[in-house]
Amino acid sequence: MANGKIGVTTENIFPVIKKFLYSDNEIFLRELVSNAVDATRKLQTLNSFGEFKGELGNLDVRVIIDKEAGTLTVVDRGIGMDAADIEKYINQIAFSGAEEFLAKYKDTANSIIGHFGLGFYSAFMVADKVVIRSLSWKEGAEGVEWSCDGSPEYEMHPIEKSDRGTEIILHIDEESKEYLESDRIEGLLKKYCRFLPVPVVFGKKKEWKDGQYVDSDEDNVVNATEPLWTRKPTDLTDDDYLRFYHELMPGREDPLFWIHLNVDYPFTLTGILYFPKVKSNIDIQRNRIQLYCNQVYVTDQVEGVVPEFMTIMQGVIDSPDIPLNVSRSYLQADRQVKKISSYISKKVAEKLDRLYTTDRAEFEKKWDDIRIFIEYGMLTDEKFYESARKFFLLKDVGGKYFSLEDYRKLVEPTQTDKDSTLIYLYTTDPTAQYSYIRQAEEKGYNVLLMNGELDSHFMSLLESKEEKLRFVRVDSDIPERLIAKSDSVATGLSPLQSDILQGIFSARIPEVENANFIVSLENLGESASPATITQNEFMRRMKQMAEQQPGMSGHAFPDSYQLVVNTAQPSVERILSEAEGELKDKLQPVLDEISKLNGEITSSRDPKSREGMTDEAKAAADKEVAEKEAKVASLRDEQSKLLNDYAAGKPAIRQMIDLALLGNGLLKGRDLADFIRRSEEML
Ligand code: ADP
Repeated sequence: MANGKIGVTTENIFPVIKKFLYSDNEIFLRELVSNAVDATRKLQTLNSFGEFKGELGNLDVRVIIDKEAGTLTVVDRGIGMDAADIEKYINQIAFSGAEEFLAKYKDTANSIIGHFGLGFYSAFMVADKVVIRSLSWKEGAEGVEWSCDGSPEYEMHPIEKSDRGTEIILHIDEESKEYLESDRIEGLLKKYCRFLPVPVVFGKKKEWKDGQYVDSDEDNVVNATEPLWTRKPTDLTDDDYLRFYHELMPGREDPLFWIHLNVDYPFTLTGILYFPKVKSNIDIQRNRIQLYCNQVYVTDQVEGVVPEFMTIMQGVIDSPDIPLNVSRSYLQADRQVKKISSYISKKVAEKLDRLYTTDRAEFEKKWDDIRIFIEYGMLTDEKFYESARKFFLLKDVGGKYFSLEDYRKLVEPTQTDKDSTLIYLYTTDPTAQYSYIRQAEEKGYNVLLMNGELDSHFMSLLESKEEKLRFVRVDSDIPERLIAKSDSVATGLSPLQSDILQGIFSARIPEVENANFIVSLENLGESASPATITQNEFMRRMKQMAEQQPGMSGHAFPDSYQLVVNTAQPSVERILSEAEGELKDKLQPVLDEISKLNGEITSSRDPKSREGMTDEAKAAADKEVAEKEAKVASLRDEQSKLLNDYAAGKPAIRQMIDLALLGNGLLKGRDLADFIRRSEEML
């Protein structure tokens, strides 16, 4: 019989443990069961080296609850401990500065447990008394019992014990009675011990008998001792991987593909990562990678260990080298962990590259599902961008896929503009932008489909990374100007003609909710449309960016459109010459007067003309300018009234505008009904 004080340098560690670790106290079971598993594996190792020559016998680890006695017991038939071992491993906890340490890492119970060899003591989180009964594997060893009630004092004495190994008996305390419920324990074993390398038995398998479930004779083993990731990839079939996936992630669709990780240098890491089908919303399926340390479940919070963009993958990673027992911020700063993260990133890129080169058809089939993931990766991880560049696929409206290189080669001859910038045309909505796509295709251009959630960001990324490349949405300009091959042709109109055309078209643009229009005149050749609505690429992106500003969601900025009137189109020419004939005599004098007045205003504003003037003279000049300005304003009114009145009587103008709006999906409601009626009348 021996009594003594446990060698923790801090006087009383137990209340501290309890206080700080309470929220996570369920991990005691993981600690005790993995100690039992370790002891068993050590015995197996001794046996394989021929040091242990006795009978191994059944090596299962058993977890037993006894509700009446109020105990939970973990039993193993591993190497066991003698009194000297207990003294060394249990009594002398090499632990200094406990309080300081606890204060620093108080957020994560894991930070203390295990890290400083405190695994066993986590039992005191749920028990008011812990008993160890053990018999060492060593020849002639004597059984020993150790007990402690949570004070720094323990009691130890020899016992009769015939079976090799260790029993840890926990007298569960008042607040922790849940750990005497078999459903709770079974749940914890499934969570933490599911893949431990030694069979863990909890009770008996149930069978259906006489209308109820009863214990059968068969042990209920809770774990799979050889999980897939520990086996050689060459021994495994696709079915094996799929089966394992469904075991891990019940109720999901088959994954797209997977990667079996297996490294031993410069760190040890095994695992299997699956690519799930992801179509949208990156966030929904996070935390599907489980982290194991030698087959012991640790966490599914893998930030820092796996590159951020890969946390949408699912599966397991097992590494004894990840410092699991420290807080997360520490984890992210850890150099080893960073290496692991970039290793995984590299492996994933390699796998994708291999798929791309060996089975392009299959890769294309999966592409739509993984595209968002790849884009996210390329956007957030520079290195990944470099490797993914090789296999990234662009898809055109016809459903054809092209690598970035191939696409460049394809469109270079036709889609390089006068400044030798390569223009990639794209659509975000093939139905709404149908007529623009057709027109572009008629010009021999190719149009890409860019309707993914991340595509707008991704296009900006490509523009910044790839040489002389610009994305232009197919409806952002008239087809002739989408890719400017030469400077535009002059319209050849007189100022009066420009004024008339501009004025009568502006006058007839209907009110469209949340949209502004400006009229521009272009010579596009006689075969092009009379009028087209376009939305400038730059303006559209500005609007998009403004809307993505924090606090701006749901805030609708108006869209700015251009109504491009083709001055060379015969019906436009007709409208213009008719209008000119009717308006010239009334309009020309107004315009002449306006330009005369404007000239006078400019010269009397000129500081030179005011030099040497008295204050009185200056005031008189100011007054005169103000009067002239008012005159100009009223002449302008007169001008627009002339144009408006004229345009109102010419349904063809409105018809042209409506046709352009219609092509853009902007003609709606009453305006659309009017358009139809007008068209019928014209027929
Ligand atoms: P750790 O497992 O991190 O070393 P623990 O406090 O859990 O810390 O255990 C301390 C030591 O006690 C172990 O390293 C081991 O030598 C010994 N030990 C604990 N449980 C057992 C067991 N079931 N069988 C044999 N030895 C054990």
